[in-house]
Amino acid sequence: AAAVSELKVDDAPLPKSRGLDVLSEFEKSKGKKNASFVVVGHVDAGKSTMMGRLLLDLKVVDQRAVDKLRKEAENIGKGSFALAWVLDQRPEERSRGVTIDVASNRFETKNTVFTILDAPGHRDFIPNMIAGASQADFAILVIDAGIGGFESGLKGQTREHLLLIRSMGVSRVIVAVNKLDMVAWSQERFNEIKNQMAGFLSAANFQDKNISFVPVSGLHGDNLLHRSTDPAASWYTGPTLIEELENSEPNARALTNPLRITVSDVSRTIQSPVTVSGRIDAGSLQTGDAVMVQPSGEKAYVKSVLVDEAPAEWAVAGQNVVLHLSHIDPMHVKVGDIICDPANLVPRADTFTLKALAFDILMPMEVEVYRGRLQVGGRIEAIPALLDKVTGQVIKKKPKIVKPATVARIVVKLEAQVPLEAGQRVVLRSGGQTVAAGLLE
Ligand code: GDP
Repeated sequence: AAAVSELKVDDAPLPKSRGLDVLSEFEKSKGKKNASFVVVGHVDAGKSTMMGRLLLDLKVVDQRAVDKLRKEAENIGKGSFALAWVLDQRPEERSRGVTIDVASNRFETKNTVFTILDAPGHRDFIPNMIAGASQADFAILVIDAGIGGFESGLKGQTREHLLLIRSMGVSRVIVAVNKLDMVAWSQERFNEIKNQMAGFLSAANFQDKNISFVPVSGLHGDNLLHRSTDPAASWYTGPTLIEELENSEPNARALTNPLRITVSDVSRTIQSPVTVSGRIDAGSLQTGDAVMVQPSGEKAYVKSVLVDEAPAEWAVAGQNVVLHLSHIDPMHVKVGDIICDPANLVPRADTFTLKALAFDILMPMEVEVYRGRLQVGGRIEAIPALLDKVTGQVIKKKPKIVKPATVARIVVKLEAQVPLEAGQRVVLRSGGQTVAAGLLE
């Protein structure tokens, strides 16, 4: 058979569409709901260990695989990392002992298909967390309850992570108070952390009704899938972590809006020289559909679709998909691009206005702009107004600077044209620090 890559882009027959009414198919299918979450928290809080343990308990991975990882880990003197490596299968990352990318993992409960967008805590890896949080319905914040662990986390990344995920639109957070085995399941310690965190969370604009606390041991698997059997933990009778996840309502899906898919990965497969994966942010699609890729403005056709890795005829907002595209040259599709409805394109622009929460002092300055997986250089060109944090009303025009923890309207000029539209959430960083985050106006 002729290799796919030998066919000229326009030679192949157009994929056939069955002309389905996707939204009514979706209604009829009454499938499981989809929910994605991000795992954040200070480095060493136990994020990877907890997720590895959860996947083991859910039988997504088997004990044999973990034993094999443990052996490897012990060989290089890092036995405790075996569970963490469940999420993190690449050798170069294991040898560093830290997770360095958003590793997607999936598991199912009775009603929901969950996607874990793992977010590591290392300072330099915040760009990955931004990408994860921009797709997440909720977050698990992992706190180290060990002596000194909570306190160093607060001084470290916990606060920045909370502000970032909130700025990226995550409103529900489950706080896993971890390593309680190290403090003999002290209820007092749990309450102390809970009280302090409640202040932080409300300062970061999380509402009480959207916050839960669960005392856990990620290493031993207490209160993740199974309730702790340790008598010292008997004071806790609330939901387990998995119950909290199941009780969380995903964000409303923009099913009837024009199609938007942020491309998180591009590869070449047997099925197609251009295979993209990403989450459908808005709208729906079916095989045979024509789509447009921005910013290249090139048309392509959906040859076939995978939803959660299974072949499908159609897909809707909120689902993670793999699309095999035809009639497009691979050079026109990149990570961070947006695949959209040809009749309703996301516009391209190199300037935008942002309603931004300042994390640091802002003034006309060079910045790195992050939107999902997209990263592009730019500059704060103007600061038209300071805004009231609550009402959004202008309180001062043309301020010289913006102080941390205040809100302002700022104008950012980019080095390149990118797909931009109102409602997108972006983060601005400078010198490796997050300086602002907000919503495109
Ligand atoms: P991450 O950087 O947040 O992903 O943290 P890791 O999952 O790599 O864990 C950091 C360290 O904490 C490792 O040595 C783990 O074995 C240890 N650890 C994680 N969870 C627990 C726990 O529940 N109890 C105890 N005692 N140690 C834990």
